[in-house]
Amino acid sequence: MESVRLPQELTALGVETREDATFAQLTTLRVGGPIGLLVDCPTRESVFGAVEALASAQVPTIYLGGGSNLVAADQGWAGAVLRVTSEGLSSTLDSDGGLVLADAGIGWDELVAFTVESGLGGLECLSGIPGNAGASVKQNIGAYGAQLSDCLEAAELWNWSTGERRWATAESLRLGYRSSAIRHEECVVVLGLRLRLASDGLSAPIRYRELAAAVGVREGERAPVQDVRKAVLALRAGKGMLLDADDHDTWSTGSFFVNPVLALPEAERLFPSERRPERMPWYPDSGSVKLSAAWLIEQAGFAKGFPGEGAPVRLSTKHTLAITNRGTGTAADVVELAKQVRAGVLETFGVLLEPEPILLGVSL
Ligand SMILES: Cc1cc2nc3c(=O)[nH]c(=O)nc-3n(C[C@H](O)[C@H](O)[C@H](O)COP(=O)(O)OP(=O)(O)OC[C@H]3O[C@@H](n4cnc5c(N)ncnc54)[C@H](O)[C@@H]3O)c2cc1C
Repeated sequence: MESVRLPQELTALGVETREDATFAQLTTLRVGGPIGLLVDCPTRESVFGAVEALASAQVPTIYLGGGSNLVAADQGWAGAVLRVTSEGLSSTLDSDGGLVLADAGIGWDELVAFTVESGLGGLECLSGIPGNAGASVKQNIGAYGAQLSDCLEAAELWNWSTGERRWATAESLRLGYRSSAIRHEECVVVLGLRLRLASDGLSAPIRYRELAAAVGVREGERAPVQDVRKAVLALRAGKGMLLDADDHDTWSTGSFFVNPVLALPEAERLFPSERRPERMPWYPDSGSVKLSAAWLIEQAGFAKGFPGEGAPVRLSTKHTLAITNRGTGTAADVVELAKQVRAGVLETFGVLLEPEPILLGVSL
């Protein structure tokens, strides 16, 4: 890549650039090669200016948040990587409850902690998810029976190819299971979120059995937001789903595969009820069935920690869904293990697992 000079005015807007960054330094999986130019933009104006300058210099540009849902190739990316780093966060109360405005660059868990400390309910089940607020919209993050779409009112988007900047309603974003209308829209930058929360100090109804038991309530009941956050963080830590630099089980992208959702007839063909193992997770929902990717992986012969000690990349020793870097792993190692697991599940069950993270310069 030819060296790129961003216009001097952008420095005045606080844009910071680096030419020595790597994806291994900026992602939670800690793999991936050099980045041509890292551009950090702390304000909306600096995002607009930087993207326009990069586009007119014909520098291919991608966006990065906390790097917790990305597998980048060992050869890296010769173009620019832009981060929206604005961290504004505020809340107000009105007759409908709490309204929270968050900039894209705020850490997701900081945002959740802020709402919980403010006694606002709705996001507590999403405690401990790494990454930034901006990226949360892309895959409609979810955990413990809750998802972003339960509380998102609108997201502020800027489409740099058309210049359009607008607040898109949650409905227009078509938020689904780990999906949204902008999941693969590379021209769309998320600048901020508007969230609607309850203001009575209680959580949303708890819809996840393990969490309800940990909090000491029945499924469907509400509980103090602080108690739910505490329980979620403890459950996540036990599964290696809370970032911890000293624990290689957390050097991952979280779940590597999404839970497969099959049309009911297809699911029944592959798993006829008379032969379906009694304990097989099976979640029917209007004409389709969601299966558990972790269960399929384990039953296909890939135990926690596969392929064993000494391997640079292994399944987490706490959860079969996470592919983890043990310290010296590369993107090529990650892809190799992912391919092996995927082929094993396909051969055993006839189900093709789809990756959850965004793949940059690598494919399965
Ligand atoms: C230990 C661990 C546990 C996890 N647990 C969960 C979980 O429980 N539930 C869940 O849903 N996810 C989970 N994840 C996945 C991940 O944390 C989420 O997907 C998170 O929202 C990614 O945010 P990020 O800022 O790190 O995104 P990145 O990885 O930086 O980027 C992901 C994608 O979003 C794009 N992007 C980033 N910022 C912007 C922006 N401002 N505008 C436009 N595009 C942008 C990037 O270009 C990329 O395509 C987990 C990950 C880890 C490592």
